[in-house]
Amino acid sequence: MQDLPSPLPTSGWAAPGAGALLEISLGAIAANYGMLNARTGGATCAAVVKADAYGLGAQQVAPVLEKAGAKVFFVAHLEEGVRLRAHVSPTALIMVLHGPMPGTEQDFTRHGLWPVLNSMEQIAGWRAHARRVGSPLPAAIQLDTGMSRFGLSDADVGVLAADSTLLAGIATRLVMSHLACADTPDHPANAMQRARLLSMATRLPAAPLALSASSGIFLGPDYHLDLVRPGAALYGLTPDATRPNPLHPTVRLRARIVQVRTIGAGDGVGYGLTWRASGPRRIATLGIGYADGFLRHGADGGSAWLDDRRLPILGRISMDSTTIDVTDVPQAVLDATTHVDMIGPHHGVDDVARCAGTIGYEVLTALGSRFHRAYLPQAA
Ligand SMILES: *Cc1c(COP(=O)(O)O)cnc(C)c1O
Repeated sequence: MQDLPSPLPTSGWAAPGAGALLEISLGAIAANYGMLNARTGGATCAAVVKADAYGLGAQQVAPVLEKAGAKVFFVAHLEEGVRLRAHVSPTALIMVLHGPMPGTEQDFTRHGLWPVLNSMEQIAGWRAHARRVGSPLPAAIQLDTGMSRFGLSDADVGVLAADSTLLAGIATRLVMSHLACADTPDHPANAMQRARLLSMATRLPAAPLALSASSGIFLGPDYHLDLVRPGAALYGLTPDATRPNPLHPTVRLRARIVQVRTIGAGDGVGYGLTWRASGPRRIATLGIGYADGFLRHGADGGSAWLDDRRLPILGRISMDSTTIDVTDVPQAVLDATTHVDMIGPHHGVDDVARCAGTIGYEVLTALGSRFHRAYLPQAA
C-alpha cells in the first residue's frame, strides 16, 4: 500500500491545493457590529452566531464580536451553544433560540447557557429543572406575535397570567418575538407584531423586550426596544434590498482557474451542453462548484469577475467546477491570473444571491468547507 500523502502544501494566497480561497474580514465584522451598536443607542446589541456564524466560523468570529462590545450571543441549538462557550469569556451570555428539548435542561446549566422558552412544555421542563436545582434559573420567553413559528400563543400567555406558579423558579430575563416582514419596511405586519409584543408582555413578569433582528433595526428606534439581535447585518448582508447597503462586505471568494481552452462555433459547454458557442470563445474552468455551496441555479446570469471585468458563467455549474467566458480578457492578463472573484468588490453576496434566485443568507450559510479559508485580522 502506498503511503498517504502529507497534507497538501499551501503557500499563502496561492493555496495551490484548494479550488477556491475564502477571505473573511474580521475587521469588517467588528466594524459592522460597531455600526449597529451605535445605531441602536441605548438598546443592548446582541450578536447572532448560529449556523457557525452564518458559515463564517463562530470560533473566529465570536471573540472578535465580543472584543467589539457584544456581551450577548444567540445560537439556534444547544450543541451550538456548548461549542460557542469555549470561544467567548465566561461572563458572555449565550442564549439558545430553540430552547431545551426535554431532558437537556441540565446541559444548559452545566454549560452556562440561557434557554429561550418557546412553549408551555419548555416552560414546564425549565420550571422542573429549577426546582431540582433549588434556585431560580434565568431564561428568555418567546412570544408568537404573528409568524406562527416559535413562541407562546396569546392563549398560553393567558394561562401563565392566571397561574403564577407556572413560572415559579424561572427568572424571566428577556421577553422576545421575531418579525416576519422586517425587510419590507411598510409592511403592516411590522407594527402589528410590535403592538402584540407590547400588549402580551404586560401579562408576563416585567422583563426587557426584544423584537428586531438585522432588518428590524433599520425600521427605526421604535423597533429597538431593550435588545436587538442582528445576524445577517454583522456579516454584511443588506437589511433592505431597496436601499444602498450601509454595511461593510465581510467575505471575498476567489476561485482558481484550473484550465483555459479555446472552442469554436457549435461547441457545447458543460453537462447537457446547454450552452453553445456561436463563434470562437476562450473558456476558463474554475475549481468551484455546487458542492462548495456555489448554487447550481446561479449559472443563469451569474458571473465571475476579474477586477471590474464581468466574466459570464457558461453552461451548468458542476459539482466541483464552473466554466466562464474569458474571451475578452487580454492574453497577457489571463496569463498572469490565477484566480477570479466569485464574491468580491464588484459582486457581493447579495448580488450572487440575486443571480441564483435566493437570498444572501442562503449563499453565505452554504459556502463550503473545501475552500482554503483566510481570516483577515482586525486593524490594530
Ligand atoms: C436568525 C435569527 C436572528 C438573526 O436574524 P438576521 O436576520 O440574520 O439578523 C434573530 N432572531 C432570531 C429569533 C433568529 O432566528
